[in-house]
Amino acid sequence: MSQKTHTPQTRPFRWDGVSVLAYKPDGGTHFRDITRQVLFDDASPHGVQLRYFEIAPGGHSTLEWHEHTHAVVVLRGRGRALVGSRVHTLGTRDLVRVPPRTWHQFRAGPRTALGFLCVVPTERDKPRRPTPADLRRLRAHPAVRRFVRV
Ligand code: MN
Repeated sequence: MSQKTHTPQTRPFRWDGVSVLAYKPDGGTHFRDITRQVLFDDASPHGVQLRYFEIAPGGHSTLEWHEHTHAVVVLRGRGRALVGSRVHTLGTRDLVRVPPRTWHQFRAGPRTALGFLCVVPTERDKPRRPTPADLRRLRAHPAVRRFVRV
C-alpha cells in the first residue's frame, strides 16, 4: 500500500496507483458485481483502512455481521442498505453507520451504480454470514425479506 501523501484521482472514482480488486478475495455467490479499492491502509495499532467499494447496477454486497463498526459515505449514485432490520434509501453523500454485530447489506439501484467509502479498523474480525435460522429470523420482517440477497 502506498505511503504517498497525495494520490490524485486519474479518472472518476479511480486513483493513481490504486488497483481495482475483487470485493472478496475468496470469491463466492453471496455478492454480485462489486469491486474494492484500498485507498488508505494504516497497519499501526488502532490503525484504520479506507476502502472504496463500487456496486454495479443490480449488484449487492454480502449479507453479514461482525464485531467491528463500518463508517460509510456514499460517493456515487444511489442504492439501498439494510442495517439491522431497517432498509434505508441512499443518496450521494449520505452517511451510514453499521454498529457491531448488526446485519447489513448494500445494494445498487437497478440502473444506478452505488459507490461508497467505508472505514474499518485494520485489525478486525471476519464477517459472519447467515445460517438458515438467521435467515428465517431476518425474513420475519417483510421489508427485509424483500431486500436480502444471499
Ligand atoms: Mn461488513
